[in-house]
Amino acid sequence: MHFFIEDIYPDIRKIMPTISLATLYNVIQTLMTIGYLNSVPIDKEKRMYDTNLMPHNHFYCEECGKIYDIDVNYAKLDVETIIEKEKHKVKYFTTIFTGICKTCLAKRK
Ligand SMILES: [Zn+2]
Ligand SMILES: [Zn+2]
Repeated sequence: MHFFIEDIYPDIRKIMPTISLATLYNVIQTLMTIGYLNSVPIDKEKRMYDTNLMPHNHFYCEECGKIYDIDVNYAKLDVETIIEKEKHKVKYFTTIFTGICKTCLAKRK
């Protein structure tokens, strides 16, 4: 599941009416620290959160804002190279492809 804090905030407030945006940020931060959540920068201002903890890549649709998980082999190989040859410990990696998704393209026709 992918989400932006601003998008889930109204739903969270329905359950916990007194929660502030700052508190929600802290909760999200804690979940990330204990490894229950990944964060993916979409651009300078936008940061998406992801419950999928496995290394994977993303496709971001500029039109509907939907995020798709995608599997790209070269990225996987890159990480293996870093782990095996460089001996770094990789905790997370991501590549973001931005464009127009198939659903939006179909609507245009
Ligand atoms: Zn779209
Ligand atoms: Zn994802």
